[in-house]
Order: sequence, then C-alpha cells, then structure tokens
Amino acid sequence: MTTLFISDLHLDQSRPDVTLAFHRFMQQLAPKSDALYILGDFFEVWIGDDDDSEFNHAIMRTLKSFTDAGGKLYFMVGNRDFLIGSGFAQMTGATLLEDPTVIDLYGTPTLLMHGDSLCTLDTEYMAFRVQARSADWQKQLLAQPIEARREIARQLREKSQSMNSLKAEDIMDVTGDEVVSVMQQQKVERLIHGHTHRPERHAVTTTADANGPTLERIVLGDWHQHLWWLAAEIDGTLVLESRAITAQQLL
Ligand code: MN
Repeated sequence: MTTLFISDLHLDQSRPDVTLAFHRFMQQLAPKSDALYILGDFFEVWIGDDDDSEFNHAIMRTLKSFTDAGGKLYFMVGNRDFLIGSGFAQMTGATLLEDPTVIDLYGTPTLLMHGDSLCTLDTEYMAFRVQARSADWQKQLLAQPIEARREIARQLREKSQSMNSLKAEDIMDVTGDEVVSVMQQQKVERLIHGHTHRPERHAVTTTADANGPTLERIVLGDWHQHLWWLAAEIDGTLVLESRAITAQQLL
C-alpha cells in the first residue's frame, strides 16, 4: 500500500533519457501504487490540450494505459504546464487538482502544491503568475494558432531563463513565512511540493508557538541527473527516493 508523488520531470523532446526514465517508472513502480500524484512541471512546456505533437501523445498514452489498468492518477499543473486542462484529463484519465489541495494521506491531512506560489520574494514572477492564471489571459492565448503559441512559449522561456540567472538564490526558493502561513491556514502538519528543484525533508519551525506541532515540508526533486519520487506507505512512513537517470533498473 503505497502512494507515489513526483513533479518537475520537465519532459521535453530534447531529453530522451528523462522520457525513458519516466516510461520505466510507469512500468515498474506506478502499477504497484494505490495512487500516483504528479505535482506540476510534468512537461517542460504545454501550449494547449489541442497540441497534437507525437511526443506529448506518447506520454499521454502511457498515462492512459496506467489509468485504464485501474491506476489512480492525480495531476496538478505547474508554472510550465499551467495550460493543461480538461482535454488532457480526458485523454489520460487523470483527475486534475487545484493548487493548493489537501488530501487525506492514510489518515494524515497533507497539503499538496506545485510550490511556485510559495516563492513570494520573486515579485516579478508572482505578478506574472496572477496574469497567467487568469481565465481571460488563458482564453486569449489559447485562441491563437498552435504555431503562434509555440513561439510565445519559446519567448517566455527565454525571458524567464535570462531573468532567473540574475536572481539571488533565496529569491528562487520558498519564503519561510509563507510556508507557515499557508500550512496554518490549511490546518495541516505536512506539505508536499516541487518546483524549487531542492529535494529535501524540512522540519518547519513556527516561531509563534514553540510547543506547537512539528510541521514537515517535503520537497520533491526534479528529473535531470536523477529521477525522484516520494513513496508514502500506509503505516505513515515517507521515503524520498532517487535513482540515477542512466540506471537501467529502478529497483
Ligand atoms: Mn515549477
């Protein structure tokens, strides 16, 4: 009895080794799970559910085989693939989750987020996020032809890469106060997120209440040199696992 969490695969045609690792993960590990949660930035870029690229469709077929075989798949979008919508859900059998969502993980209320909304020091990005998540902005973008959207996505990515290289390390990480405030607001003692590419398990300290409960924040890893997943067991154990992408076997 295991529930799996992954995020930040950044699946892209330019990195076939990661795509292969994903297919192996889906063949070897996912079928043994009670449920698989994908917490955003699954794709490096997503320009709309009507994109008919063979690369995307091969990935979606893999997800569909999993759900067809009875696998439970939950999907939250990230800052790269925020245009994923109901078409994707239909094609893959995934249930889309809002960001944030609280689930009951074997009896423990657990907050799931992609993580970008926690990086509040990056005010420039936070402003873009508000715009990019608005229904009107998305509708206008999705009304453009596929080729135009592909070009817009390329420009956004270039802009984001050049801006990020100028930003300080702490700006690119979550803000401690925001973590505490969101966890208290959602009344949870456990948070799982991705986005920052800093896989780790953190004890969250709340300065206001020294005798309060111990909060935990678990950061999933990105799939670059390694693939990462969090395995939650029915007995309450959580294990953050990683394997080299080049390894032929996961287990
Ligand atoms: Mn992200």
